[in-house]
Amino acid sequence: MKDPGFQFQQTYSQLPDIFYSRIPPVAVHQPELIILNTELAAAMGLDFSDHESGSIAAMLSGNALPEGCDPLAQAYAGHQFGHFTNLGDGRAVLCGEHVTPSGLHLDVQFKGSGRTPYSRGGDGRAALGPMLREYVMSEAMHALGIATTRSLAVVTTGEEVYRETPLVGAILTRIASSHIRVGTFQFAAAHRNVALVKALIEYTIRRHYPELIESKNPALALLNAFMERQVELIIEWMRVGFVHGVMNTDNMALSGETIDYGPCAFMDGYDPQTIFSSIDHGGRYAFGNQPAVAQWNIARFAETLLPLIHNDSEEALSLAGEVMSRADRFYQEGWLDMMRRKLGLRNPMPDDASLISELLDWMKDNNADYTNTFRDLSHDALLDSGSYEQSGFQDWLKKWHQRRSEDNSEIKMCFEIMKANNPTVIPRNHKVEEALVAAS
Ligand code: AMP
Ligand code: MG
Repeated sequence: MKDPGFQFQQTYSQLPDIFYSRIPPVAVHQPELIILNTELAAAMGLDFSDHESGSIAAMLSGNALPEGCDPLAQAYAGHQFGHFTNLGDGRAVLCGEHVTPSGLHLDVQFKGSGRTPYSRGGDGRAALGPMLREYVMSEAMHALGIATTRSLAVVTTGEEVYRETPLVGAILTRIASSHIRVGTFQFAAAHRNVALVKALIEYTIRRHYPELIESKNPALALLNAFMERQVELIIEWMRVGFVHGVMNTDNMALSGETIDYGPCAFMDGYDPQTIFSSIDHGGRYAFGNQPAVAQWNIARFAETLLPLIHNDSEEALSLAGEVMSRADRFYQEGWLDMMRRKLGLRNPMPDDASLISELLDWMKDNNADYTNTFRDLSHDALLDSGSYEQSGFQDWLKKWHQRRSEDNSEIKMCFEIMKANNPTVIPRNHKVEEALVAAS
C-alpha cells in the first residue's frame, strides 16, 4: 500500500513497560471512510490524494496498519465523578508519534479499535454518532483557537455496536500532542514506586515542558507549569461557553489540550448550572463548576508528585499547597482579563468585576444567549430585541459605555477586541444533533 507520509517514532514504549500493553487493533469487517480531514492531513505532512477511499479506510481502521505503527494501549487510572478507578485505553490503541515536517511530535490514536487488556467489561468499540461528535467538537474548538486534540478521520467498521440499540460501529483517528493524562500519573503513583513517577515526570517534561529540563525541582516546576496551562485552558472554555461534561482526571491531558469529547456542548442561554451529560446527576461538571473541578483535578495531580517535590512530606505538602493557592488567584485574574476582552475593555479598572457580574446576572435572569449577547454588543447598534429594551439592561449599557470612554480607546478598537474574543459561530447543540442523526 502507498504511504501517505507517516513518520512514526516510538517514545512512549521507552517508559517502563507497566505503562502500556502492546496490542494490535482488532480487525474490522468492512471499513468505510466517512470523513477525512485533508486540511489537518496537509498540516501534518500527510498526503492521501493518491489513495483510494478503500485503502484509506483500511489504514485508518487499523486493518492495514501504516508503516512504522507499533500499536499499544496505554495504562492509566483516574477519578471518575470523584471515585478512583484503574482504567487504561479500553477501546483505543496508539500507533506512535508522527513527526511532522516542522518537527512536531503528534500521537496518532485509533479510538474504537477493539478490546485491550484494559477493556474491563466493555466491547472496545465506538459508535458513529459519538465519534463524529468528537470530530465536530474538537475541530470547532481548534477553529476557535483553543488547545485541543484533533480529528483526522472517521471510518465505519461495517459492524454493529450494541448500546441500548444496535448502532453503526466507527473508529476515530485522533491526533494529540500526547495522551499523557493526570490519570497516567495517578496510575504510576498508585504503584507506590517513586521511580515510575520520576520516569513519567521526565518524559512529560521532555515532551511538553522542555523549558523545565534543567530545573532544580522538576516535580514542583511541572506542577506549577501544568497548573498554569490547565487554568488557561479552562478560561478559554469559559470564554466560549464550552461545557466538557466529563472532567474526570483521566480526561485531563498534561499537554493542556482539551481531550476526550463525550457529552460536551456549547451553552446556549447563560446559566452556570448548565450540564449536557445525562449521567451527571449532581451537576458536578456544570459550566460554572469547571474552574473548581480543574483545581480539584490539579490537586490530585499534585498528590502524585509529593514524594518527588520534597523528601520531607510536610515540606512537600506546603510547597504543593502554595501552587494550589496560586491556582485560584491565577484563575480569578485570568478570567477577569478574559471577560474584559469579551467586553472590549483594555486597561483594568477596579469596578470591572462588578460590571461583568451585573451583565452575567442579567443574562442568567433573562436566559440570554451567551454567544449572541456578546456578539450583539460588538456592533454599534444593538439588534431589536425585547430583552435589550429592559431598563435593567439599559442601565448596564450606560455603565459600560461610560467605562469604555474612561478607557480612552477608540470605539472601533473596542469592537475589534470584542470580535477577536467572542465567537460568531459555535457548533450549536441542536445543529450538531441534527447532523449526527443525518449521518447515522
Ligand atoms: P471515556 O468515558 O471515553 O473517557 O472512557 C473512560 C474509560 O472507559 C476509559 O478507560 C475507556 O477506555 C473505557 N471505555 C469506554 N468505552 C469503552 C468500551 N466500549 N469498551 C471498553 N472500554 C471502554
Ligand atoms: Mg477518557
